[in-house]
Amino acid sequence: MKFPLSMTAGLAGYIFKNKMRPRPEWQKTVAAAPDASNPFRILPSKTAVKSQPHPMIHKRFPLVLMLEPLHACNLTCTGCGRIREYESTITERVPLEECLSVVEECGAPIVSICGGEPMMYPQIGPLVAGILERNRHILLCTNGMFIQKRLHEFTPDTRFYFNVHLDGMEKNHDLAVEREGVFREAIEGIRVAKAAGFKVCTNTTVYKETDMREIEELFEYLTQFNLDGHQIAPAYGYSAVNDREIFMTRDDVHEKFREFDRLAKKYNVRQTPVYMEFLRGERELPCTAWGNPTYNVKGWKGPCYLITDGHYKTFEDLMTQTPWESYGPGNDPRCEHCMMHCGFEPSAALGINAKFSDNFKLLSWMLR
Ligand code: SF4
Repeated sequence: MKFPLSMTAGLAGYIFKNKMRPRPEWQKTVAAAPDASNPFRILPSKTAVKSQPHPMIHKRFPLVLMLEPLHACNLTCTGCGRIREYESTITERVPLEECLSVVEECGAPIVSICGGEPMMYPQIGPLVAGILERNRHILLCTNGMFIQKRLHEFTPDTRFYFNVHLDGMEKNHDLAVEREGVFREAIEGIRVAKAAGFKVCTNTTVYKETDMREIEELFEYLTQFNLDGHQIAPAYGYSAVNDREIFMTRDDVHEKFREFDRLAKKYNVRQTPVYMEFLRGERELPCTAWGNPTYNVKGWKGPCYLITDGHYKTFEDLMTQTPWESYGPGNDPRCEHCMMHCGFEPSAALGINAKFSDNFKLLSWMLR
């Protein structure tokens, strides 16, 4: 089965409750503030077709909180925007109590702890324990290099996953993270975590240069560790790194993922079948960035994990002051080629642009 039954049941209940009784104050349309004083502002595309809002767009609620307790990292990965965008606050951390209070403030049932390298956060053990006490599911996104050293600070739990970043086999992964030996240490971290009874999955970003045959080779190699799933998504250019020619257009993404269905079936890939159809270009999904809010040292980052048009003091401010309908392909040129799961996986999970057959697809995927 894809996820533990408790996770599936808890998530289904949470989504049902929020669909039935959405918070009215989160559903209002906010007009984007014109900022004529800024000569560098990005104007909405005149050529793109404006997307029609789906009714579910007006049932906004958070699904996955992206919690970044710090932005410091021991690596300088080629595609990472964080260490560049947050250079001025790279030594700052969100205090433990604040992390736990934003988990409650947001209410999302899943917390993805990311960064920076969250395993460098001094209180990472108490943070994970505190979030589990609040009955949330956790994905701890890590480059895997500190797992061995700090494993004793955690206790295995069916709601807690180490999510280890691996972008390819040894040579290419080490190139992507710009340091030799990282792949081997990450694999060793995976091995010891699995041996100690932890749940472990992997997270792979696909770039323009990625050879999908190597991703198959990687998944095949990882079968020996009996992992609990793989996440995969196309890279998207942060403004902080968009001078690099590693990111893809939508056509590039469709091409990369055209044959991916076979791998997804063979290797326990955790992305939903609807999101996979979106990546292959077989259906459209609107952006639902409100489903994946991000909190970091500067506050609630809006509108999404990728674009920063502001930081808000409270989650309520993020939800009520962000002009959500001004974002997404066809609304903002910066979104044109974005197919990141943080913007579109909530649309798939919430049944936006759903077809009748989707429920059966989702069920057979969950049981596979
Ligand atoms: S389409 Fe992508 S970049 Fe644009 S708001 Fe949504 S998640 Fe952010």
